[in-house]
Amino acid sequence: FLAGKTAVVTGSNSGIGLGVAHQLARAGADIVLNSFTDRDEDHALAQSMADQHGVKARYIKADMSKGDECRALIETAGACDILVNNAGIQFVAPIPDFPTEKWDAIIAINMSSAFHTTAAALPLMRKAGWGRIVNVASAHGLTASPFKSAYVTAKHGVVGLTKVTALETAQEKITCNAICPGYVLTPLVEAQIPDTMKEYDMTRDEVIKKVMLERQPSKEFATVEEIGDTAAFLCSPAAAQITGTTISVDGGWTAL
Ligand code: NAD
Repeated sequence: FLAGKTAVVTGSNSGIGLGVAHQLARAGADIVLNSFTDRDEDHALAQSMADQHGVKARYIKADMSKGDECRALIETAGACDILVNNAGIQFVAPIPDFPTEKWDAIIAINMSSAFHTTAAALPLMRKAGWGRIVNVASAHGLTASPFKSAYVTAKHGVVGLTKVTALETAQEKITCNAICPGYVLTPLVEAQIPDTMKEYDMTRDEVIKKVMLERQPSKEFATVEEIGDTAAFLCSPAAAQITGTTISVDGGWTAL
């Protein structure tokens, strides 16, 4: 149902972004992958996505911490029917110790980038008469944890931007929503399991249930495929009247 549409997914050379790109490509969309690196393997990822799903795919380098590069990503893509704002980083420290440069980087990459890409994409969506914006926020866009000041602030900001974008496009065939994942099993999370097992002398299952998923009532990770399918649903005809809202994929975290 997405044949002929072009999807730009920021921060998509790994993890959730790559998972979302795969599910959108499965639904027929042409894909623009992105990150701040420009390695052969980044371009190879796009090639394998094209081969696997029979769509067009390319990789465009752009640093989402810089507003002009965010806008240039959309301009270079040339078309942007679906925009997935996914790029994000994390840093954890108490507020008095939180390094200013980490605060600035998280606000820029996790929040402001979505403003810049949206600003550049909306004219293209209006010209095409259709558009879908999916912001990858977080359970931390709806609730908080200590020591994650910048991340929680940025993700709440993304939820706010989602609502404003929805209102400014409400009478056009453009929607904007935020997905709020709980813990998702990405390579980054997977890599932490062996060390944590050693640290606490626990089995893999204990580490997952007692340490990582302490706040996730289902005691299961969400998968990148599930986040991708949620994004694909928000781009489907069934979701045409869903706009300006959040959809939690968090195993019950925010119900607590
Ligand atoms: P990840 O580290 O695998 O992916 C982050 C992506 O962003 C990577 O592709 C990375 O290259 C890219 N990126 C980082 N800095 C960038 C920059 N300056 N410019 C362009 N790209 C940049 O992590 P992930 O878990 O897949 O996270 C993806 C998104 O999902 C983030 O916004 C994160 O906050 C959100 N999220 C993740 C979880 C989780 O449990 N993994 C939960 C909730 C929300």
